[in-house]
This record gives sequence, C-alpha cells and structure tokens, in this order.
Amino acid sequence: MRPVFLTWGGEFADPVREADYQAERLAESARHARLLFGFALLMNLLFYLSDWRFFGHPHFAVSMVARSVIVAVSLAGMLAAGRIASFRMLAWLAATWAFFVIAASVVLIAPHSSPIGLLITFVMPMIYYLALSMPFRWALVCGLGGSIAPLAAYMAFLPSRETWPGLILALITLNIILALVLIRSNRLQRLAWAITQAERVANLQLARHRETLQALLQAVPAPMIVVNRRDGTILQANEAARGYFGEGPLRQPHAIQASIERRDLRKLTMILEANGRIDGFETRLKLAGGAVRDVLLSATTAEVDGVAAVLVALTDITGRKEMEANLERLASTDPLTGLVNRAHFFALAKGEIRRSRRYGRPLAVIMADIDHFKRINDTYGHGEGDRALASFADLCRKLVRAEDTVARLGGEEFGLLLPETDADQAMALANRLRTAVEDLHLGSLPAPITISIGISQFLAGETALDAALSRADQALYAAKRSGRNRVVHFDAVAA
Ligand code: GH3
Ligand code: MG
Ligand code: MG
Repeated sequence: MRPVFLTWGGEFADPVREADYQAERLAESARHARLLFGFALLMNLLFYLSDWRFFGHPHFAVSMVARSVIVAVSLAGMLAAGRIASFRMLAWLAATWAFFVIAASVVLIAPHSSPIGLLITFVMPMIYYLALSMPFRWALVCGLGGSIAPLAAYMAFLPSRETWPGLILALITLNIILALVLIRSNRLQRLAWAITQAERVANLQLARHRETLQALLQAVPAPMIVVNRRDGTILQANEAARGYFGEGPLRQPHAIQASIERRDLRKLTMILEANGRIDGFETRLKLAGGAVRDVLLSATTAEVDGVAAVLVALTDITGRKEMEANLERLASTDPLTGLVNRAHFFALAKGEIRRSRRYGRPLAVIMADIDHFKRINDTYGHGEGDRALASFADLCRKLVRAEDTVARLGGEEFGLLLPETDADQAMALANRLRTAVEDLHLGSLPAPITISIGISQFLAGETALDAALSRADQALYAAKRSGRNRVVHFDAVAA
C-alpha cells in the first residue's frame, strides 16, 4: 500500500500506521532523547563555570537557580528516558523537558543582552524541532515557544528597539526553515520505513508461499523432484521420491538422468527444451538397486528460487504394465494347454507371412487332429481327455524349433506354423511328431493315441493364413479318410 503523508508535518495520514511507526522506533527514539538530555546536562554543568562571572551580581543567584533547573530536568529526563514505555510518554517527557529549559533560558538570557544569549536563542529551537521525538504539532509549539520567549526576553532588555524588526524577521525565517526541514525529514524517514515494511511483508508472504508449496510437494503421493538444469543436482525431492529412489542416490548429481535409458533421455531433453514441458512420457527407470520400473514422466521447466530448474513428477506404471501383459497373455493363450490360441495364431501368422514374402523364404502350415478323440473322452472320461491334450501340447513344444508356432485351434485340433520350411522338411517334422505321439505313454490310457496330419505350403502372393490353413485342413481330411495316423501334404492331394 502506498503511504499517504500529511502535508503539514510529513507524518502518516493513517494514525494506526503512524502509531506503528512510532512504536517500532520507540527504543531508538528513547536512546536519542537520553543522549540529548545527557548532553544538555553536561553542557549546563560547564555553563556553571561561565555563570561564575556574575558572582556578586544580583542576578547571580537567579541564574544559578535557572541553571540548576536545567541540570535537574536534564538529569531527570535522562533517568526517565530509560523507562519509557510508549511514544506518548516519550513525547510528554520531551515536552516537559523543553518547557523547563525554555523557562530557564528566558531567565538566563533576559538581563544580559549579550551576543551569547542571542546565539543561544537561535540555536535552541533546532533542538526542539529536530532532536526531540514529538508529534509535529508539539515540536512546532516547542520550537516557536522556545524561540519567541527567549527572544522577547532578550529584546526587552535591549537599550534600543532598532534591531527588533530584523531579529523578529530572522526568528520567523528560522522557524519556517526548521519546520520545513522537519516535515521533509519526517516524510523521508517514514518513506524509508514504509519501504522496509513492504519488503518485510513481501518476504513473509514469499516464505509462506514457499511453505505451502513445500507442504503440497511433500503431500503429493507420487515421486516429485526438482532438478537444477545447470548441473543436474537435485534441489528438492518429496517424501515419495525419497522412498522411490532412496536418499543416497538422490544426493548424486544426474541421479534421475542416469536411471533413464540414454535414447529416451535424449528424446525427453529435446522435447523439454523445445516446449518447456512434457506430459506422460513413457520410459523405464533403472533404479539404484537394479530394479527396472516402467514410469510415466511429466516435467516442466521453471525457475525455483532463482535457479533454472526442471520439475519432474513420476507415475509408476510397472504394476499396470504387468497386468496388461498378463491380460494380453490370457487373451492370446489357451488355458488348458498353454499354447497360442486360434485368434493369436492368425495374428502371429500375419508377421510370418510378411517376412516370408519379403525374403522369398518358404513357410509351411500343419494341422494335426487326434484320432477318435471322442472315444477317449467317452471311455476314460473328460479329465483323461484333457490330460491327453496337455501331453500332446507338451510334446509339440518339445519337438518344434524356437521360431515355430504351435497353437490349439479348437477341440483336439492343433496348428503349427513353420518358417523357413519347405514341403519335405514339413513332412519330416510331421512324421516325427506322429511317431512321437505313438510313443507317448499317457497314464491310464491302455492304448497309445494317434494323430492325423495335413500340411500345406504358403503360395506366392498369399497375405493371410486362411487359404493355406484350408488346404492343410483338406490334406488332414484326406489323411483321416485314408485310415488316420498318417501325414498328407496338400500337394499330394491336389496331384
Ligand atoms: P476323428 O478321428 O475323426 O477326428 O474323430 P474324433 O472323435 O477325434 O472327432 P470328433 O470331431 O468327432 O470329436 C472331437 C471330440 O473332441 C469331441 C469333444 O468331446 C472332444 N473335445 C473337444 N474339446 C475338448 C476338450 O477341451 N477336452 C476334452 N476332454 N475333449 C474335448
Ligand atoms: Mg479327432
Ligand atoms: Mg477334430
């Protein structure tokens, strides 16, 4: 708030503010008053010596009394100034002291009409105006009184009246100048005080804001850190961040940067430098203990306490990613056998077909179906049937290469996708599988199970699994018709 000053006096127009100002300066003002009273005491003790020249003169006794009054009130003022409790009290003390000093000066100056008396008449008002702490009006009264009374006494004893107008004009000039100086000084002092006061309030508000921000930062459950942009040191970290990264690692400069993969860090820095902020940037952090976490990172550049910084907030999505992966696995896997399910088999085939087309490499698909499976179910129960399916799946997994895909297409029907496999190689694998099934010993089943297999090669120009799978199915059907437990390649059926 801009301070408003009184034109007459230069004090604050708002009395509450004026009182605040005076209250805050009370100790200093009281110290000044004490110093002044002490100085007056000392000077008047010295004046005793000067007064000695009137010894024997009728005025001597009167001037001794007057001098003693000044000495006494100065001493009393000095003592009282040490016990001042309010500005009002101090003003009263100053005014009382001034009253007695003025009265005594009149007595001292009056009969001599000496140049010293005149000099003192003109010097004393400066003390009332400038050296005492009083409201402006009181200072004015003391200053005027303190110059008019001694001058009147001085002039009364002058032998001629010639110098009166000059003296009176000089006195008026002096009072106007002193009043103006006091007004100006009052204004300037209060202005300086108001500025310091405003600065103090601003600092206090800033400190409060900082505290609020700190409380907020600490209360946020997600890890948040403030990084110095210049040297990478961590300026601040909330409770969650300390728990997440550990106190030790956070003390290292570039702790966060070092935990981010280099490629991601480059990308992140680029975006941040271009836009000043980044939201939901997905990356992986390698923490000090070696744990790898998936996170969403949001950051913004800002100036924190005058330092160019980056505010970083993290959301750990490791759990979510794991859940997503689990769901994905569940959606793409057959629960009984753990094999790829039909839908996922078709999806994976797309990639394999693309690769085979691009490099002109052979790709084969096999369909295998357990013979008379219904009988197994009917004779030994569904449970045994399930176990047989699972055992068959295990066998397939064991026999194929890592790059092959085995899927349960439905019921007791399985599909195999074989990259880099021509018709002969596919036939060989299918026969290995067929004979291995015969050798499979399935717990309570007395007789071995057998399978029939149909094979087809992908043809140039085919972009989906359907046609090749349908050909393999036809070959499988042929295998079934020709007595089961055998392998038929579609090329043989077609021929
Ligand atoms: P074919 O030699 O002609 O293939 O005769 P099949 O009996 O194997 O063929 P069919 O299609 O007649 O019967 C398939 C059987 O597979 C019928 C069904 O009860 C059984 N089946 C399908 N899914 C499951 C399963 O998840 N568990 C068990 N235990 N049996 C299944
Ligand atoms: Mg069958
Ligand atoms: Mg079948």
